[in-house]
Amino acid sequence: MDYEVLLYYKYTTIEEPEVFAQEHLAFCKKLGLKGRILVAKEGINGTVSGLKKATAAYKKALKDDPRFKNITFKSDEATEHAFKKMFVRPRREIVSLQLSDDFSPNEVTGTYLSPKEFKEALLAEDTVVIDARNDYEYDLGHFRGAVRPEIRNFRELPQWIKEHKEEFMEKRVVTYCTGGIRCEKFSGWLVKEGFKDVGQLDGGIATYGKDPEIKGELWDGKMYVFDERISVEINHVDKKVVGRDWFDGTPCERYINCSNPECNRRILASVENETKYLGACSQACRNHPQNRYRQNT
Ligand SMILES: [Zn+2]
Repeated sequence: MDYEVLLYYKYTTIEEPEVFAQEHLAFCKKLGLKGRILVAKEGINGTVSGLKKATAAYKKALKDDPRFKNITFKSDEATEHAFKKMFVRPRREIVSLQLSDDFSPNEVTGTYLSPKEFKEALLAEDTVVIDARNDYEYDLGHFRGAVRPEIRNFRELPQWIKEHKEEFMEKRVVTYCTGGIRCEKFSGWLVKEGFKDVGQLDGGIATYGKDPEIKGELWDGKMYVFDERISVEINHVDKKVVGRDWFDGTPCERYINCSNPECNRRILASVENETKYLGACSQACRNHPQNRYRQNT
């Protein structure tokens, strides 16, 4: 376990994201880090891996920069890099939500809940817990009883909420996501939409799973992560598999991308079913002329 994988974000002002991105990339490469970092005028959102000595130097450098004061790093130990390359990309937003009237979560956001408070919310009768991630992330693992919005992209979430508003409007609404960043703006948007009592899991599922008292309880399955590990464990009390094979519905936690490059949908499938169905999510994708599986065999 010589390596560490970091997950972090900070809403703060970065005046020249393009310049910052260039310099930051050079700095990360010098440290031998690999990963993906997005920077925008509104802040930074990143996940990197590296030798512990390098990640320690990286954390210190960010904390010493007044713009990133109080930044929180979620950390996992690892035996190797979790990425193949190092990218730092300037963007318009650090999480793409594309709201027509954008705002800063530093101005309006939902109440931050500790893992303990969030667990109480999960058990409360009058509270709706909404998963702010994509459907394929939910399918591999989620909090027990959480609402699964039918979205394949975070940008679709506000519209989905508008269509289901009556179901949640009168209740306390609590949201969660992987590391907390998606909920910062999403919960703020809920407040702006008129939801009266909005909460968010501070530090996301990643923090919840590491809480020494809660130990990830009431989480089922695994947590999807956007690096080569694909998934990590969260519940250290009573583990349970909730993922289901796309083809036969049997318990499964193995992800593949649909072999039609124009679809690329993430589905769960055993090696056996992947072979049997040519790695495609549908008949149309199986017959697609560019199907990767057919081209490689
Ligand atoms: Zn497909």
